[in-house]
Amino acid sequence: MTLRVWDYLDEYEAEREDILDAVDQVFRSGQLVLGPSTTGFEKEFAAYHGLAHGVGVDNGTNALVLALRALGVGPGDEVVTVSNTAAPTVIAIDQVGATPVFVDVRESDYLMDTAQAEAAVTSRTRCLLPVHLYGQCADLAPLEKLAARHDLALLEDCAQSHGARQNGRLAGTTGKAAAFSFYPTKVLGAYGDAGAVVTDDAATDAALRRYRYYGMERRYYVEQTPGHNSRLDEVHAEILRRKLRRLDGYLEARRRVAARYAEALADTDLVLPQVVEGNDHVYYLYVVRHPRRDAVIEALRPLGVELNISYPWPVHTMTGFAHLGQPAGSLPVTEALAGEIFSLPMYASLTEERQDKVIAALREVLRTV
Ligand SMILES: *Cc1c(COP(=O)(O)O)cnc(C)c1O
Repeated sequence: MTLRVWDYLDEYEAEREDILDAVDQVFRSGQLVLGPSTTGFEKEFAAYHGLAHGVGVDNGTNALVLALRALGVGPGDEVVTVSNTAAPTVIAIDQVGATPVFVDVRESDYLMDTAQAEAAVTSRTRCLLPVHLYGQCADLAPLEKLAARHDLALLEDCAQSHGARQNGRLAGTTGKAAAFSFYPTKVLGAYGDAGAVVTDDAATDAALRRYRYYGMERRYYVEQTPGHNSRLDEVHAEILRRKLRRLDGYLEARRRVAARYAEALADTDLVLPQVVEGNDHVYYLYVVRHPRRDAVIEALRPLGVELNISYPWPVHTMTGFAHLGQPAGSLPVTEALAGEIFSLPMYASLTEERQDKVIAALREVLRTV
């Protein structure tokens, strides 16, 4: 049996009654879209963050698209972000007609280099979009100051950092808005696609609600374009509501898995994840680095261990983003990382027994590779 890098089946078995009850509740309610489960989840997710508003949407990519629109970002505007991210971060910027401006990441945490972000600000910059990649927050204090100084919108991409904290503050509570994905693999995952935006700002909340509903406020009357249909389905909302109550438990479990990896792999030549001071990492991914990454992965496959690379190509080097004109070689840390990082199996329900098999196989391979 292959040890998968991510799996939800054990979690489903443990939570099956609750999940099926959620599905049944929605199916019997007579309301499948924008009903009480969506409203309830939005309130509870916002409250978890100590914020006034949450808006459920259909996925994390559209959470970013709608957030950018609601913040007034559009054609002619520059958005400072990173290339070491999931492509949807950049797809969203592209989608609203704005221009992504990439800065490199730090060697320590692989997250936005905020000094470079400051240097990248021009008169056209409208928004800063840090990505709290892998499960810990990018350095937010300098970004918050930078946004205030130049009157920029700070939008946090929290798709990988549900429940992460920096100096006690939850991911998603520093910026003007924050976008979340509940894609099944994420720290808080639905049984299908889902997303949300949180904000403390009433005008942003109202704009988000219009944009996700064809640009309508009143039924059948379009107030603004472009309209989207980005509603969150009731069934996912109800499942997410139930799972939100268990989120802190998932975080604890992930941290336990991470601590076991850290202890078992400390004496190898893998570069393990560094937790930056002040950060509480939630380990969406357990990303390690090795100069002979491809050989390690090749050698592990026949041993039944599946690994993943997040991400094998920096966004700016892909054909689909050639129009951005960001030359290869211009983001050296990002580009070096893409050739050396890989992710070990990580999810809340990963058993010690399975993790021990991963560790044993990995240690064996590292001795010979
Ligand atoms: C998953 C992810 C997204 C997109 O979310 P979807 O729900 O898959 O659309 C955006 N940004 C980051 C950093 C992600 O990891």
